[in-house]
Amino acid sequence: MSKRMTGNTFRRGKPSANKGTHPEQLQGKNHPMYGKKHSLEARKKMSLAHMGKHPTNEFKKGHVSWCKGLHVNLNPLGGFKKGHPAPATAFKKGVYAGDKHWNWKGGITSENHKLRTSAEYKLWRNAVYERDNYTCIWCGNRGCRLEADHIKPWCDYPALRFAIDNGRTLCKECHKKTDNYGKKLCQK
Ligand SMILES: [Zn+2]
Repeated sequence: MSKRMTGNTFRRGKPSANKGTHPEQLQGKNHPMYGKKHSLEARKKMSLAHMGKHPTNEFKKGHVSWCKGLHVNLNPLGGFKKGHPAPATAFKKGVYAGDKHWNWKGGITSENHKLRTSAEYKLWRNAVYERDNYTCIWCGNRGCRLEADHIKPWCDYPALRFAIDNGRTLCKECHKKTDNYGKKLCQK
């Protein structure tokens, strides 16, 4: 019995965990709640009163977010999202298109590109492969990366570009050894 009493007494005198967090004038006797206890009823009331002030409730009710308006024009470049033209649009508008482009080569590139990716070119290449049995005619390699080479240069003999007799099957390594390798762009 006496032991239990001692325990209770000790607990009652133990400083609360909150001690020190209040400003000095609100501690001890100066605290509004000194000597008082919230009843269960009072706690419920407080709880209900606070519920209406919950931030998530405010958002749900359609209140304006505190941060609304802060994101407007924070970006110094300004207004990309609002449909203002981005600097890169100059390319799309054609300012640097065609002969004004730094990499323009007088239309040769596109003409070559069209021809070399055309169905006709692919047919010619396949016909050459077929005739040579998909084998490099120089080293006899098969199954490696094959390329169809023009015996008479693509550039100098436009009429023979799709002549099967003017084609030969080479592996990539052998193709590199030809004089005309990499000179497909007719830079005249
Ligand atoms: Zn080869």
